[in-house]
Amino acid sequence: MSFFLHKVPSVIQCLYPAYIWHKPRTSRKVYLTFDDGPVPESTPFVLNELGKRGLKASFFMVGDNVRKNTSLAKEVLAGGHQIGNHTFHHIKGSSIDTKKYLDEVKACQFTLEDCLSISPGLFRPPYGRLKKKQATLLQKDFKIVMWEVLSGDFSPRLDPDTAIRNTCKYTQAGSIVLFHDQEKSASFLRKGLSDYLDFIQDEGFQTAWI
Ligand SMILES: [Zn+2]
Repeated sequence: MSFFLHKVPSVIQCLYPAYIWHKPRTSRKVYLTFDDGPVPESTPFVLNELGKRGLKASFFMVGDNVRKNTSLAKEVLAGGHQIGNHTFHHIKGSSIDTKKYLDEVKACQFTLEDCLSISPGLFRPPYGRLKKKQATLLQKDFKIVMWEVLSGDFSPRLDPDTAIRNTCKYTQAGSIVLFHDQEKSASFLRKGLSDYLDFIQDEGFQTAWI
């Protein structure tokens, strides 16, 4: 069995207070997020699982995928879900200069506006990595949304049942929970997502936009 940290340590959250790590603890809500789509391998499955339970989520989309799979992106929107910017090519901000990074975010935003009429609102940096300067500039137009609980769905070494049990254990009121509607996590989601969503409902959590 391998070790995986399913919760972002609070010391990290405290180091970067300008980012959103979780929402208020006062109401019994969980904030589901799905990154990197839309792609045919995962997004329709996720939409179906959410839709049959009437749950809402936030999808942080890669602009290039929106361009390639526009009808899927429209299905996400039609399902009543929230959509945020996740750069055009899934770029790690800490590895490239600020101007190029901002261009990536702009290209994604242009696509979201062009295909879905989505105005700037939420941004999630791929890998959770960006430079302070990049964050400062982006915060003029976007709320920067991180996460508190990681499902680990992208990690092939994790057993989905164990990973979902741990994800449930760390989920609390206000949690922002990270999943991926991408190809790599497709098999994990098919094994574990419905159990997690059942847990959310059994515990009396509601879901909401960030
Ligand atoms: Zn990502």
